[in-house]
Amino acid sequence: MIRIENLYKRFGRLQVLEGVNFQIEEQGVVAVLGPNGSGKTTILKTILGMVLPQEGEIYFDNQPVLNNWDYRNRIGYMPQIARFPDNLTVRELIEMIKNIRDVDANEHALIERFGLESSMDKKLGQLSGGTKQKVNIVLTFMFDSPLLILDEPTAGLDPVSLIRLKALIQEEKEKGKTFLITTHIMSLVEELSDQIVFLLEGQIFFQGSVQELKDQTGQKNLEHSIAKILESDA
Ligand code: ADP
Repeated sequence: MIRIENLYKRFGRLQVLEGVNFQIEEQGVVAVLGPNGSGKTTILKTILGMVLPQEGEIYFDNQPVLNNWDYRNRIGYMPQIARFPDNLTVRELIEMIKNIRDVDANEHALIERFGLESSMDKKLGQLSGGTKQKVNIVLTFMFDSPLLILDEPTAGLDPVSLIRLKALIQEEKEKGKTFLITTHIMSLVEELSDQIVFLLEGQIFFQGSVQELKDQTGQKNLEHSIAKILESDA
C-alpha cells in the first residue's frame, strides 16, 4: 500500500531523516515509534505531502505520490495538534469538513460513541482539550478511508475514551483498514499493532512485531524493550 524509499529530510542544518526505507503491504496497524524529535511526525507529514523531502520517493498503491495528489482522498489524517476555529460550533465544524471532503460521511454513530451529543452546539473555543480530541476523532473516522494516519491520537483523552478509541481502531482494522499511528501509550501498541517501525537517528532501527522486538531486546515487556534500545543508544 505504501512504500517509502531512501527518504532524506533536513530542516535547515538539522538532518531528521537519513535514508528511511519501509513498506506497508497489507491491512493492519503499524505503530511508528522513536524518541521525541526522531522524525515520526515528519514521516507522517511526508506521506501526506505536507513536508517535502530532499531526497527519496513515496509510493501509494505503486504510484509515486509527488505531483499526483488524488491519493490523499484515500487517507484520513488526525494531526497531533488540531487547530480549530474557536468561534465555530462542533456541528458547524463537522458540516464544514464534510463539505470540503465531498465524500460520504457517517458521523452520527461516532458522535454517540464518544458522548459528544451535548457538545454539538458548543463553540470549539469553549471545549476542553480532551473534548476537542474527541471531535478530532469524529472528523478523522467519519469518512471511509482505507488508510488512517493518526499522530498521537490519545493526547488528552480520559481512560474511557481511550478504551473506546482502541475498540474503534480494532473494528476498523478488522474491516480491512490500514493504520499508521504514533503514540506514547504502550498499551495501545501492545493491544493493537501488528507491526512496529522504530526510528532512531534518522533511520529505521527496527521493523517487526511487538514479540520480535521483545525477543530482540530480551525483554518481556514492550516499555522495557524500548527503554533498552534508548539506553544502549545513549
Ligand atoms: P517526532 O514526531 O519524532 O517527535 P518530529 O518529526 O516532529 O519528531 O521532528 C523531528 C525534528 O525536526 C525535531 O527536532 C523538530 O524540532 C524538527 N522539525 C520538525 N518540523 C520542523 C520544521 N517545520 N522546521 C524546523 N524544524 C522542524
